[in-house]
Amino acid sequence: MIKQVGNTLIEAKHRASCHCGAVILELDLPDGIVDPGRCNCSICRRKGAVVAAVPLAALRVVKGAEALRLYQFGSMTAKHYFCSVCGIYTHHQRRSNPQEYGYNVGCLEGVDPYQIPNIRVSDGVHHPLDRSAS
Ligand SMILES: [Zn+2]
Repeated sequence: MIKQVGNTLIEAKHRASCHCGAVILELDLPDGIVDPGRCNCSICRRKGAVVAAVPLAALRVVKGAEALRLYQFGSMTAKHYFCSVCGIYTHHQRRSNPQEYGYNVGCLEGVDPYQIPNIRVSDGVHHPLDRSAS
């Protein structure tokens, strides 16, 4: 878990926002940023975001729900949300665990994800659900 990034302490309730500020999230992060990673799947390789996960109940859209757009593809399981004004990916309901949201670590207020060392890249090309199906 990561409780501090640069000079920014991760709060138990930490806000996140898209670029334009239309969308604001509040996340419960009592353990800080847990296991942040990148992924090489077809969508993550394009957006390039550092992502960490929280239980569904730990992420609330406090402003701008109407500005969020939903994007789905492939198995149509994951729900990828982005701001319709500035285009920034904020969070997604995960395919590998639909009880969790992934969220864009770079959207956390005050957090520069490039200051987090040794971020793993997970093998989303070979998704666990695809492997078990084959
Ligand atoms: Zn925006």
